[in-house]
Amino acid sequence: MSYVGRFAPSPSGPLHFGSLVCALASFLHAKQHKGKWLLRIEDIDTPRVDAKMNAVIINSLKAHGFMWDDELIYQSQRHQIYHRYLQTLKQQNYIYSCACSRKQIRARSGSYDGFCRDQNLPLSLLDNQYALRFKHVTNHCNFVDGFWGTQDIRHPIGTEDPVLKRADGIYAYHLAVVADDIEQGVTHIVRGVDILDTTPVHLSLYQALNSQAPAYMHIPVVVQAQGEKLSKQHHSPAIDDKSALSNLQLALVYLGIAIEKQPNFADIDELLSWATTNWSINQIQKQTELLISTKNGVYSLP
Ligand code: GLU
Repeated sequence: MSYVGRFAPSPSGPLHFGSLVCALASFLHAKQHKGKWLLRIEDIDTPRVDAKMNAVIINSLKAHGFMWDDELIYQSQRHQIYHRYLQTLKQQNYIYSCACSRKQIRARSGSYDGFCRDQNLPLSLLDNQYALRFKHVTNHCNFVDGFWGTQDIRHPIGTEDPVLKRADGIYAYHLAVVADDIEQGVTHIVRGVDILDTTPVHLSLYQALNSQAPAYMHIPVVVQAQGEKLSKQHHSPAIDDKSALSNLQLALVYLGIAIEKQPNFADIDELLSWATTNWSINQIQKQTELLISTKNGVYSLP
């Protein structure tokens, strides 16, 4: 079986422990399957990302022994590709213009209700006059998640029509991630369960684009308090690159391999090679959130 996995961080802040756990899981799974592991910097949302963080994240990954295969990709340099995917979707009548403001949407029903589907607003891929939405054709999504098992997700038609290009001209995450995963031949996606709810949209895009969808595995997210995912907004500490070996040992605990079950590793290469053989996604605790302590800016078991 050919296996292409990837890690796709958004550079809104430095690498924190939750991203390290996700990077490690996707890396180990790819390497165990003798596959490739790609790195893609998801810097498409230019107002929200911090270009200085690209190098910080890349250096952290290198310090932790992660070497990616093939070319390192930056979404900010791939607008032409996203435009091409939009063109394909437009030709198939999957795109419509939407003039609704967030305020209008909130006032009507809270989540988008497909209001502009039948308004026939002028449709241009380049004018940036309106947001462009994807006509999400199915209201029933069924897929097998490699960690959680069968997922059966239903929603009323129209409510999930995501924006693929914003009125300010920025391509949306949903379009960029699916286009890139197709372009890069990604076959397996290991990512956080916090974005499991985006998967129906992604699967629908694969269908509309007539492409084979990858296998998905959504692993628990690391939180510093209930509902508080590690993130820049929650002031989660950056991981300390000087403690790479102990960071990785702790990350393995969150992947279900307690410290007592780990041998004494001489260095990170030894740890990664041992873990490639000995890890299994089924060892991870079946919880959506795994708690960590960030006391004094240091990550440790709670
Ligand atoms: N860039 C996303 C994030 O940092 C991950 C997207 C994905 O793995 O599909 O949360």
